[in-house]
Amino acid sequence: MAQRCVIGVDLGGTKLLAGAVDPRRLTIHHRARREVFGLDQAALIEAAVGAVEEAIDASGGVADAVGFGIPCTFDRRTGIAVQAVNLPIADLPFADLMSERLGLPVEVDNDANCAVWAETRAGAARGARDVAMLTIGTGIGGGLVLGGRLYRGWVGAGAEMGHMVIDMDGPPCQGNCPNWGCLEAVASGTALVREAALRVAREPDTPLGRALEDGRPLTGPLITELAFDGDAVAAASVRVIGERLGVGIANLVNIFNPEVVVIGGGVIAAGDLLLDPAREVMAARALAPSRDLVRVAATAFGAESGMIGAALLAAAPEAAE
Ligand SMILES: [Zn+2]
Repeated sequence: MAQRCVIGVDLGGTKLLAGAVDPRRLTIHHRARREVFGLDQAALIEAAVGAVEEAIDASGGVADAVGFGIPCTFDRRTGIAVQAVNLPIADLPFADLMSERLGLPVEVDNDANCAVWAETRAGAARGARDVAMLTIGTGIGGGLVLGGRLYRGWVGAGAEMGHMVIDMDGPPCQGNCPNWGCLEAVASGTALVREAALRVAREPDTPLGRALEDGRPLTGPLITELAFDGDAVAAASVRVIGERLGVGIANLVNIFNPEVVVIGGGVIAAGDLLLDPAREVMAARALAPSRDLVRVAATAFGAESGMIGAALLAAAPEAAE
């Protein structure tokens, strides 16, 4: 008899990753990937259905439920996606629609909520009951577990911690955010690239400057690679992003007194080059005793925490309530 599994789907603005997950052992039987950048609504739905069906078939054809993690805010009273910056699913009853198409129960949640749930149940914050997570990529997502439960806010739009203000007079934020100087505006992967561009323009005769001259595009992965190689411009860029991140973490530590703050998203590829300055700033700015007790840790599941968390939420949605 085929092994039962749940399907977790991380539906991002550019890529979709679906996995057939054994919710007890957390083994992943099969991964299905799709490019979704620029798709219209109908094509996006087809891509998602196709990826889920591929994962179900590859795992032996038996799935109990499907979970989606999506970078948008939801109104859980209606199940409708309210603000989906890079995906054409606004005003769509996404869970109902997918459930009808797939013939399975479907859970949908914010992608960072899924990620923090995975890290709390089985990852970097395993065993903790109070956990904050920031996923740092193009933007900054936030997920919160308080008292062992996923904190979603009144209608499900809470924990948007990437939009806490770090600098009242800072640069304008991204996407639909009308604010200025949000953590996302100054400490995201986008901000890292902007920071490095400013610095390398002043110091072009450096490894980073020469890499750009050789035609390599200025990206987070390039900056991270050269920071590890000891390039001063790249390392200083990562460091300043880490320091700003530390201001944001200090706020979270003061407000929530979390046991663990987990950092995920693509930018965590910089590891302790990012986390050490963040820890220093947090320790200098947050209040005792929270600052002395909190652990600031990198994600245990990397780019798969959203997918795994979506699967765990689909397998046992009541566990997060
Ligand atoms: Zn913002």
